[in-house]
Amino acid sequence: MAKDNLTAILYGINDIRLEQTPIEEPEKDEVLIQMGCVGICGSDVHYLVNGRIGDFVVREPMIIGHESSGVVVKLGQNVKNLKVGDRVAIEPGVSCRMCKFCKEGRYNLCKDMVFCATPPIHGSLRRFYKHAADFCFKLPDHVTLAEGALLEPLAVGVHACKRGNISIGSKVLILGAGPIGLLSLLVAKSMGASKIVLTDLTQSRLDLAKKLGADSTLLLRNEDSETEIVRKIYELFGEEPDKTIDACGAQSTIRLAILATKPGGVAVLVGMGASEVKIPLINALVKEVDIRGVFRYANDYSDGLELLATRKIDVKPLITHNYKIEDTVQAFETSKSRQSDVVKVMIHCN
Ligand SMILES: [Zn+2]
Ligand SMILES: [Zn+2]
Repeated sequence: MAKDNLTAILYGINDIRLEQTPIEEPEKDEVLIQMGCVGICGSDVHYLVNGRIGDFVVREPMIIGHESSGVVVKLGQNVKNLKVGDRVAIEPGVSCRMCKFCKEGRYNLCKDMVFCATPPIHGSLRRFYKHAADFCFKLPDHVTLAEGALLEPLAVGVHACKRGNISIGSKVLILGAGPIGLLSLLVAKSMGASKIVLTDLTQSRLDLAKKLGADSTLLLRNEDSETEIVRKIYELFGEEPDKTIDACGAQSTIRLAILATKPGGVAVLVGMGASEVKIPLINALVKEVDIRGVFRYANDYSDGLELLATRKIDVKPLITHNYKIEDTVQAFETSKSRQSDVVKVMIHCN
C-alpha cells in the first residue's frame, strides 16, 4: 500500500498545513478507508478563523474535516458489514453505544460521542483514515463519492425536518439558504411539504433555492423591521407557515422563527450562533409554538442515503467548487471568502 498519507492539519487560527502522518491500522471493529471526498463545513471554517466553537477549543494541532466518503481498503478482524472495495459515506460521530441515549436511539446526545474534527478529536481530511465500520454506509454504484460526503449535512436536514414533523401539506419557512437551509428544503419537499419559502441576505443563494424547488424566496435586508418581514412572509405563503427551520443561528432569525410561526406550530433551531440570545418567549408561549433544538443527527444517514439512491433529491447543484487535497489551503480560502457564489466546497483526497 502507498505510504503517502497527505493530511490537512489545523495548527491554529488561519494556520492549516499539509503534512504526512502515519497510516493507522484499523482496530477490530474498524475499517481503513482510502478517502474520496471531504466537504468543507461552516464549523471547519469557524475553527480555522476563530480557533473555537463555544467550549470546543483547538488547543493542539487537529486534523480537520468531517463530511466525508471513501473506499474501504482494509477490514478489522470483526467487520462483517463491509468488504474491501466498498464505497462508503462516513458518519463522523461515533457514540458509545452503551448509554441510555445510545440505547434509545438518540445517540447524538451521547456524552461520550467521539466526533471527527471536534477538538481534541482528529478529522478525516487525509488520504487514508480509519473509522468504526458500523458508522460507514455503503453507497450504491450510482451514488458518487461527492454525494456520499454531502450525506453529512444532508443528515442534518433530515433530522431538522423530522424534528419539525414535516409532512404532507406542511407550509415551511426556512431561514438561511446556505447548505443546511438548502438541504432542508430538498428534504422538506420530499416529505410532502406543499409550500416552502426561503429567506437569506444573498440573492444568488435564493436563486439556487428557487432552482432547487423553493416556491418563493425573500431577500432580507438588515434595515427591514421584524414586523415588515413577518408581513412579507405571510404574504408569500398566503397564510402563516406552520413550521419554521432556522438554519442561521443569528438572534434576528431565531426571533423571526418564533414570530412568524403559526400558533400551534413548530420552530426548529438548527443554526448555532452566540450562546445567549434575546427572544420573544412570551410570543411563543401564548401561541403554543414548540421550540425544538437540532444537534447533528441520529439514525438519519440511512434515510438521507435512501433519498439520494432513489433520486428523490439531487444534492449535486450545491457543490460549487472542487479542489485537490494538495490545494486544501486554497479550498479553505474560498470557503472562508463568503463570496456569494460559494455554497459547498469539496476536496478530493486521492
Ligand atoms: Zn458539517
Ligand atoms: Zn452513548
